[in-house]
Amino acid sequence: MPGTTLTQPTTRTVTGLADGRQLIYYDRGAAAPRNAVDERPLDPQTPGSQVRLDPATGDWVTIAAHRQARTYQPPAEECPLCPSRDGRLSEIPAEDYQVAVFENRFPSLAGPPAAPALEADGLWTAGPGAGRCEVVCFTADHDASFADLTPERARLVLDAWTDRTAELSALPGIEQVYCFENRGAEIGVTLAHPHGQIYAFPFTTPRTARIAARAARHRAATGRNLFEDLLAAERAHGERVVLTGEHWTAFVPFAARWPYEVHLYPNRRVPDLTALDESQRAEFPYLYLELLRRFDRLFGAGRTPYISAWHQAPTGQRDELALHLELFTIRRAADKLKYLAGVESGMDAFVNDVTPEDAARRLREAAS
Ligand SMILES: [Zn+2]
Repeated sequence: MPGTTLTQPTTRTVTGLADGRQLIYYDRGAAAPRNAVDERPLDPQTPGSQVRLDPATGDWVTIAAHRQARTYQPPAEECPLCPSRDGRLSEIPAEDYQVAVFENRFPSLAGPPAAPALEADGLWTAGPGAGRCEVVCFTADHDASFADLTPERARLVLDAWTDRTAELSALPGIEQVYCFENRGAEIGVTLAHPHGQIYAFPFTTPRTARIAARAARHRAATGRNLFEDLLAAERAHGERVVLTGEHWTAFVPFAARWPYEVHLYPNRRVPDLTALDESQRAEFPYLYLELLRRFDRLFGAGRTPYISAWHQAPTGQRDELALHLELFTIRRAADKLKYLAGVESGMDAFVNDVTPEDAARRLREAAS
């Protein structure tokens, strides 16, 4: 299939894998034609997961028992995210690539929502695990990490996230698109190759639902937007601000849950990635790469495990919510990890061992 231009000069080439899953290459500048064919004998997967509503909390839970068989920490020479080279066939048929996105072979959510999507039996509401799960490969370099990328490559990843958000949001039944990266075995990453994931949910995630309720309450009480007030307050106070650009601000939140946690907001509020303007897009890579590099410097040598989570407004709630990125690590000292134990896992009540003000100061001092 011929490539189509997305936003100059990113080229997007849509192709497919042997079992029918979609694969999309994103390229900037000169790139070889992305026409390699997947030669692996793959059987189509039949995921059959389910979403269930917890009658007590109102939270959606995805039940995806088929994922137990997924690839777990393979040796580097069997990495499914490296390009296909030297007779070794991976998930990406090309010999090289810049950024590649494909449908997860072991998705938690897959397929269009059935009609009627949900069935209620008394207190029990459930439906098919409809939606889509994608894998985003940031680079063909197995040993790199996002922090090693050039600003140009980070921009290409941003373009890919934006394109996926636009396309997945438009699918029937999709309520929220979530782009994220887990980095480090400590986080539970099953593949070392630098990559992130995208979940297109058929529901609004529990955290976003709680945040939306707070924003609605703030609007009712003050007539103003919660996130605009929040960002203005942090910028005016300054003690927890880590990094500012012309178009973005990074700060440690007042009630941070994680030892080192940074929220990165565009100064002009937008609901999701598709609404960023060119000046915001152009500046993002520099601030984000700097934050990631500071995370890596926090504990001396070695890479800091982290979760990087894009918060985007659900498709039907674009008025009050604000696009932002939440970056946090479970590492609280060079040799100590924060585990979610009884208080956090049992009660959703976090105990943080580092004050947000100290965390912000250390992250400012870690500047390159
Ligand atoms: Zn690899």
